Amino acid sequence: MQSVGVIGAGQMGAGIAQVSAQAGYAVLLSDVDKARAEAGKAGIAKALARLVDKEKLTAQARDEALANIECVDDVSAMAPCELVIEAATEREAVKRQIFETVGKVLSPNAILASNTSSIPITRLAQASHDPARFMGVHFFNPVPVMGLIELIRGLATSDATVAAVEKFGQSLGKEIVHANDAPGFIVNRVLMPMLNEACFAVGEGVATIPDVDTACKLGLNHPMGPFTLADFIGLDTCLEITRVLFEGTGDPKFRPAPLLIKYVEAGWYGRKTKRGFYDYSGETPVPTR
Ligand code: NAD
Repeated sequence: MQSVGVIGAGQMGAGIAQVSAQAGYAVLLSDVDKARAEAGKAGIAKALARLVDKEKLTAQARDEALANIECVDDVSAMAPCELVIEAATEREAVKRQIFETVGKVLSPNAILASNTSSIPITRLAQASHDPARFMGVHFFNPVPVMGLIELIRGLATSDATVAAVEKFGQSLGKEIVHANDAPGFIVNRVLMPMLNEACFAVGEGVATIPDVDTACKLGLNHPMGPFTLADFIGLDTCLEITRVLFEGTGDPKFRPAPLLIKYVEAGWYGRKTKRGFYDYSGETPVPTR
């Protein structure tokens, strides 16, 4: 495999394009228009420049990686790609439309993969050019830093498709785990109930936000506590995934905590809105409860 298409140049798509380009693939990057794709590439250039400043990357490797990324007007330019990874906005209608359009130009042997966090792969495959050559490839944020990829096969995904995408993921230096097509896959299935339970605990007055964070950090040896992590992920995203777990399994153990719902309804989404479980408007984060 030599050429990779990435659809969506937001935080995930740009990250996937960056690591693919650094691994030597010829990357075609698209978004809703070429200007957005170019903005994604500009972000990649900044990220690579920081690595050069920290002496983690040579200037030559940076230049080569950037030269490997070509921004295109739309997905119709993805015809030469052997693998196309969709990392557009998490809305099923958006993704279905993309698959229909790109499916018309893909070569018969091309593989189409989605970076979706929560939409069932088997259902999405119905909008693809060939469900046997469609699967989930779930990267983690930030893509250049996080070492994991979850591979998710749909009901119709072929063994050859899984093997080809696994080889691609390994060539990026990532560790691969395999998950069946079930709500939350592996990481979110385990993580979201923990974040949600932390919200129940604080909501019920068990402890304060900073004490729960300190307890999990030092008592579980986690790099950060659940509230700090939730603020990084975005509380709207956490609630969305928890709802997918709840609705997808029908199991009440996944019901979203009232405190999480309340923060999202207040528009307190975490770091991206400068306020979530902590207030980030000053120099140091201040707990909101
Ligand atoms: P984002 O909002 O940063 O980027 C989404 C990009 O998709 C935007 O640039 C947007 O303009 C573009 N887009 C929208 N409609 C499009 C279309 N029709 N064609 C092409 N591009 C289009 O979002 P993100 O965080 O990068 O998430 C992208 C995908 O990755 C989602 O499916 C999300 O669930 C998944 N994901 C996110 C994370 C995370 O932590 N953010 C982790 C794993 C997976």
